[in-house]
Amino acid sequence: MSLGYWLIQVAYLVASILFIIGLKRMSSPKGARQGFYAAGAGMLLAVVVTFFLPEVGGGINLALILIAIAFGGVIAWVSGRLVPMTAMPQMVALYNGMGGGAAGAIAAHELILGTHGPSQTVLAVVGALIGAISFSGSLVAFAKLQGWFTALRFPAQNIVNFLALLVVSLFAALAIIYGGSGVLLVFFLLVLALGVLVTVPVGGADMPVMISLYNAMTGLAVAFEGYVLGNPAMIIAGMIVGAAGSLLTFLMARAMNRSLGNILFSGFGETAIGGDIEGSLKPINANDAGAMLAFAQRVLIVPGYGMAVAQAQHKLWELVKLLREHGVDVRFAIHPVAGRMPGHMNVLLAEAGVPYDIIGDLDEINEEFSNTDVAVVIGANDVVNPAARTQKSSPIYGMPILNADKAENVIVMKRGKGRGFAGIENELFYRDNTRMLYGDAQQSVAALIQAVKAML
Ligand code: NDP
Repeated sequence: MSLGYWLIQVAYLVASILFIIGLKRMSSPKGARQGFYAAGAGMLLAVVVTFFLPEVGGGINLALILIAIAFGGVIAWVSGRLVPMTAMPQMVALYNGMGGGAAGAIAAHELILGTHGPSQTVLAVVGALIGAISFSGSLVAFAKLQGWFTALRFPAQNIVNFLALLVVSLFAALAIIYGGSGVLLVFFLLVLALGVLVTVPVGGADMPVMISLYNAMTGLAVAFEGYVLGNPAMIIAGMIVGAAGSLLTFLMARAMNRSLGNILFSGFGETAIGGDIEGSLKPINANDAGAMLAFAQRVLIVPGYGMAVAQAQHKLWELVKLLREHGVDVRFAIHPVAGRMPGHMNVLLAEAGVPYDIIGDLDEINEEFSNTDVAVVIGANDVVNPAARTQKSSPIYGMPILNADKAENVIVMKRGKGRGFAGIENELFYRDNTRMLYGDAQQSVAALIQAVKAML
């Protein structure tokens, strides 16, 4: 082995260590930015040293790689800058799908070469299976989140999916034993179809868990293909993504009180219509709402997707500071699936400079709503919908919710009668102790600031 070879291996090891440090730092909002830079530096190092591998060759190979990097890099840079925060889940689904597709493409190339031993061939096929399902499944998830279509169901869907899995397994065995481009082509087409079949029935409310699952699968596929290529950085990075993605999948499923099997096979979680709700929506103006806040002792704020749409976090923090300066105990209650991506609310509040010690997760803070004078729901809907506790037919039934309804008074800021992601009515808005402050959340908060200032 030459010195160059060992230098490349050391560089891969350093890159892997940077991935691990990056992930560790990302586990807290304080270190997330440095974590991101560390993992990014690791990726850059891994990509650069790969150019020095002898099998990359020169000439046409090098030109193709550089063109692909330039092309993909420009698209990623532009789309990354243009995408609104609210469309981030689709973006994640799309990029994740690309990772799965890349792992599948590596597998296809290696299997067609047919130069590997039995263990590599088996892992190449398993990686291809996982990666290609993740690719087509993520594209379907992207299309659904983009609102291009909703869940699609047909009779005996689970049986059809099971049979499709059997046929795919058969072709996977044929690909391992016999190989050949004909078998591989059919195998890949079937796997891609399976990814579509598995994803189309999953309901909108379950999409976040599905995306996280595909993220884990992409990681595993990359790790398997790393083994086939003998590339340690791919193995380690893939395993990290696979492990972290699996953990996130289970945590999100638990946050929604659903099992993974139930999410994948029940066809539950799709948009539903709300039942008849008693009571009426009672509007309040900013002056009255401001008075309620100014004279409260304890206030809990529940942010949701609408706060992200309105980009109201900065103004909201201004309001919270004002109230806290005048002795009102104001804190934030964050639901694990509030917004449209894991940690969405935490990111926005951190961006506005809200200190972490006044932000509580569902588990820590939920009991406190019953001792709260005013719960302020800003652009949240599903995460405070009491139907999750009582209505068995509801797509969010069983999901733990923030107990905003248990506060003495509730102020809900939203623009009108728009429903949340799950598409259902929310009886909280009709309750006797709830008042609706209509308008774009940022403008409503600005009006509240004026009202509170005039009062204090
Ligand atoms: P919801 O999607 O349930 O509700 C958002 C509410 O915000 C709407 O009812 C809307 O009402 C209001 N709104 C929209 N724009 C504005 C605005 N400019 N100003 C004020 N209000 C506005 O949000 P939640 O955060 O409560 O719930 C998140 C949902 O998203 C859950 O169902 C979750 O499962 C799902 N999900 C979560 C993901 C995650 O990882 N966190 C990923 C994908 C989905 P109106 O139109 O009347 O203003």
